[in-house]
Amino acid sequence: MNFNLEEVLATLTKAKSNVKRRLEDLARIGRDPKGGVTRLAYSQEENFAFDYIKRVGISYGLIAKEDPVGNLYLELPGSPSEDLVIIGSHLDTVPQGGMFDGTVGVICSLEIAKILSQAKLKRKLVIAAFRGEESSRFKISLIGSSIATGQLNPNMLEAKDSKGVKLKDAIRSCGFDPDRLREAVLPLKKIRAYLEYHIEQGPVLEAYGCPVGVVTAIAAPVRYKVSFSGEWAHSGATPMNLRKDALVAAADFVLTVRAICARRGDVVGTVGDLQIPGGSINKVPGEVVLYLDVRGVDLSERERTVQEIFELTRKKAESYSVSMNFMKIEEKFPQKLSNQIIKFLERACDLTNVEYLLMPSGASHDALSFSKVGVPTGMLFCQSKGGISHSPREFSQLDHILAGARALLVATYMLTTASHYS
Ligand SMILES: [Zn+2]
Repeated sequence: MNFNLEEVLATLTKAKSNVKRRLEDLARIGRDPKGGVTRLAYSQEENFAFDYIKRVGISYGLIAKEDPVGNLYLELPGSPSEDLVIIGSHLDTVPQGGMFDGTVGVICSLEIAKILSQAKLKRKLVIAAFRGEESSRFKISLIGSSIATGQLNPNMLEAKDSKGVKLKDAIRSCGFDPDRLREAVLPLKKIRAYLEYHIEQGPVLEAYGCPVGVVTAIAAPVRYKVSFSGEWAHSGATPMNLRKDALVAAADFVLTVRAICARRGDVVGTVGDLQIPGGSINKVPGEVVLYLDVRGVDLSERERTVQEIFELTRKKAESYSVSMNFMKIEEKFPQKLSNQIIKFLERACDLTNVEYLLMPSGASHDALSFSKVGVPTGMLFCQSKGGISHSPREFSQLDHILAGARALLVATYMLTTASHYS
């Protein structure tokens, strides 16, 4: 077919009922009796979801290929070129997660591949579903896409879930082979673009009344364990001015994190865990441990924020006669997404009359794996109701999902055909 925008978009609109049905079908795979969907990385439920998507892909005329660790690739047949354009996302969920996270991207991509199977493309279009994007089970995120991009350290295969099952054994129990990691690495130099369509999982698009977001960068966290040492004392016998209360210093820390991050637009800081080991109602706290998570899309901005937090809070802790120590426990690096792909996505939104917002992603996604190894990478978001995700209450309107799919369809067509795009 010649690419007639009106016709193609009309075909996609007709596929709306397919998108709805497939989302509902997947929501039944791993439905949790306590609510939501539980389809953990390398579980039977994740396997069933992959089987389902594979069957749909084959029924759409795509060629199904699995790599040795269970990532699924559905290719449009008959491509004249080895250059690849990949669109993908994941099918696993957190415990009692929602039915849109990951699945929206895979399901919409399949409809797009079906439509584009009628078009003359210059590059090979591949729909990808990656294993184990969520860190819930093994405390490692982006497992499948990290393997596909050659970034998973083989030591990580020893990571255990809460029941003591190792990642490598879970991979085996799903019928795959963790000893063949290298064979699962994609030909990265041939990937001309990686696109991912995902729900926003935050409240920004709804606040702006925009159905769709074009992602400019993916934020990443740096995490610290922070300890406060004061002096344990009797809560009745110790006058207020003679106390060395570690919790007062810690409380000041929490408020300082909030105040500093609130002044900076693109950095967020959270104390999500705080403990008083040995604390009691009748003791002035002598020890407090808390955990700080700071995220941003700009590394230097993030570093400046962390520095400011620790400088200011150390002085404040001293004023309470409390000493403060901190240790970095995890650091990931933010990624700016490809400017060239962002332009394609913006143009695709304009051509399809989809209102969009340029925005960073606070959460990480499989797209991060591709961007980190230099593959030109882009992401589209669709609005999440109430900004709620990783919850049975996660919801995105079908019309918003379709709006993003329209833009994704046109961007995919442009990226698989444009001769000036290298
Ligand atoms: Zn996700």
